[in-house]
Amino acid sequence: MGKLRVLELYSGIGGMHYALTESSVHAEVVAAVDVNTTANEIYKHNFPHTLLLPKTIEGMTLNDFNKLDFDMILMSPPCQPFTRIGLQGDVSDPRTKSFLYILDLLPRLNKLPRFILLENVKGFETSSARNSLIKTLKECEYSFQEFMISPTCLGIPNSRLRYFLIAKAPPGSLSFQTISEILQIFPTAHSSDGTDSPIIPDNHCSALSSKTRDNKDVLYKLETAQDLERKKSQNSEESVRKLQDFLEEEGQRTDMDHYLLPSKTLLRYALLMDIVSPNCRRSVCFTKGYGHYVEGTGSVLQSCTDVELESVFKSLEVLPEEEKLKQLSRLKLRYFTPREIANLMGFPSHFTFPPRISIKQQYRVLGNSLNVHVVAKLISLMVS
Ligand code: SAH
Repeated sequence: MGKLRVLELYSGIGGMHYALTESSVHAEVVAAVDVNTTANEIYKHNFPHTLLLPKTIEGMTLNDFNKLDFDMILMSPPCQPFTRIGLQGDVSDPRTKSFLYILDLLPRLNKLPRFILLENVKGFETSSARNSLIKTLKECEYSFQEFMISPTCLGIPNSRLRYFLIAKAPPGSLSFQTISEILQIFPTAHSSDGTDSPIIPDNHCSALSSKTRDNKDVLYKLETAQDLERKKSQNSEESVRKLQDFLEEEGQRTDMDHYLLPSKTLLRYALLMDIVSPNCRRSVCFTKGYGHYVEGTGSVLQSCTDVELESVFKSLEVLPEEEKLKQLSRLKLRYFTPREIANLMGFPSHFTFPPRISIKQQYRVLGNSLNVHVVAKLISLMVS
C-alpha cells in the first residue's frame, strides 16, 4: 500500500502532524491549512518540507480540495464557539462557518477520504455543529466513533478533556464497542458509570470546577473540601507519572527567574491559583491565556519544595501585604515554561519555536493545540 495522503486542516503548530508521525501509520501530510501567521511561522519552522497553505478554508474551492487527492482529514476546528467562556454561539458563531463549509463539501468530493479524525473541546458533543457532522457522516455512510479523552488516560499528569471523533469510509468499519477494548489503548481511563459507553468520562480530571466560594467547606485558599479530595486522589494515582519527568532542569536554564510569578500577581491571585509541585501527578489544562491571566488558565509550579504549602497559606489572610509577599515568595512559584507544556502535551524534543516568537505567543499557540500522544493512539486505532 502506498502512503496515505493526509490533509491537515486548522493545522496550527502541527499537533496533528506530530501525532501522525508518532502513530507510525505509513502516511504523509500533503497539505496543511491555517490562517494564523504566528502559528504558520512555527509550523514552517518545524515542517519546512510540508506544503502549508496560509489561507482560510472557506477560501478554497471544491476543485482545490479535489486536486489535493487526500485519503485522510485531520482537523481541530476553532473551539471558541463551544466553550463555556466562548458564549457557546455554536453554528451561529462566524468561527464555525469554515467547518460547516467542509461538511457541505465532503459529499461532493470526487473521492471520499477513507479516514477522518476531528478534535474539539468538551461542549462540542452537545452542539448542533456535532449533529451536522454526524448527519453528514451518516449520509456518506461512514462508520464512526466518539470519545471524550484526557491525557491522564495515558498516564500523563495533565488534564485536557477533549472530544474526539474518528470515522472510516466503507468498506470496513470501526468496531470497538466495549470499554474494555478502549481500556487496552487508554490504560488509566475510568468509566465512572460502569457502562460500556465508549465515551470515557475522565474522572481524574473534571477540568476546572467552578469554585463555590460561599460554600461552608471552603478551606484555606478558595478551595473546597471536594477540590482537595480530588487533588489528593489524583496525586495518589500511581499509574500517572510525576510532573518532574516533564520539567526542564532548573540548572540548565539561566533565565528561569523570568518565569517566577510577579509580586502583584502573587498578592492578587494567591488564593485562586492551582499550585502543583514536581512530585504531583496532576496539572490543570493549559489554555492560551497562560502566563498572562492567572485564574483557570493552567497550574503554577512550586519550585521550592522544602517549604510546606500549608505553612505559607495558613495565616496568610491576616498578614500585612509585605509579610504576605514574603511568605508567598518562599514557595518560588513559577509558570511552567513553554517547553514544559510542550513536553506535557507530547511534542517531541525536536519541536522548537523560531527565535522571533515571544513567550506569550508560545503559550497562546500551545494552549490551542492538542495532546500528541492521545491523537497518535486514535490515528493508529482508526487505521488499524
Ligand atoms: N491542532 C492545531 C490547533 C488548532 S486551533 C495545533 O496543533 O496547533 C484552530 C486553528 O484554526 C487556529 O490555528 C486558527 O488560526 C485556525 N483557523 C480558524 N479558522 C480558520 C479558517 N476559517 N481557515 C483556516 N484556519 C482557521
